[in-house]
Amino acid sequence: MSGWEERAAASLLPLSRSPTFWVALREWRYTGRFFDLENTDGTCELCSQRDLRYHFEIADRGTRGELLVGSECIKRFDLSGLDEEGREIDAADTARLVDRHRRGLVEDARRQRVMTALLKLGQATPDFDAGSFLGYVDDRGAFTPKQLAMIFWRLQGSAVPYRPSDFRLTIRRDREKAQLRSMPEAAYRRVEPAMTKAQRATIERIKVRFAAWGQSWR
Ligand SMILES: [Zn+2]
Repeated sequence: MSGWEERAAASLLPLSRSPTFWVALREWRYTGRFFDLENTDGTCELCSQRDLRYHFEIADRGTRGELLVGSECIKRFDLSGLDEEGREIDAADTARLVDRHRRGLVEDARRQRVMTALLKLGQATPDFDAGSFLGYVDDRGAFTPKQLAMIFWRLQGSAVPYRPSDFRLTIRRDREKAQLRSMPEAAYRRVEPAMTKAQRATIERIKVRFAAWGQSWR
């Protein structure tokens, strides 16, 4: 047995019916319940991995034992689970479900950081209409280049901490691309860290097209 298998066996066996680790594992399944600890101070109760932010619950159907574990352990030990309607699902479907739950938690946390930054900015600068921007996060989930340049400028000015990559930028429409194009250099540089890989690639294609016309895009 490897180190993490030994640690997992020590946590699992006292709560299982079978005294054999690999048999006991089959008694356990992912319950579909998960928790955001909001800090990276969680520990996996199966393998003792530390610094976890998210906990996923597994339970033994016979002993009713429960453990809060990292998503990796559910996949590593090929645990089966219950889907959202409470039906039994196999290990492959359980791995997909736990990944989906984890992505949902990561996305919720990101949105929460954006909301917190906007609310703090609203408190720091009363003329900033935080409410309407919070509405944007809810409705579209993304900001136009002009909005984002203004938000970042004001966040920096008010010394409100924020992660540019938490904010979503939209440049799908022509007028949004035009905003980027006509933006002052300093504003462009502020917005740039919020661009996704795909958006950077789009900008590169536009630049190439402009270059073919003998023009520079910006
Ligand atoms: Zn673990």
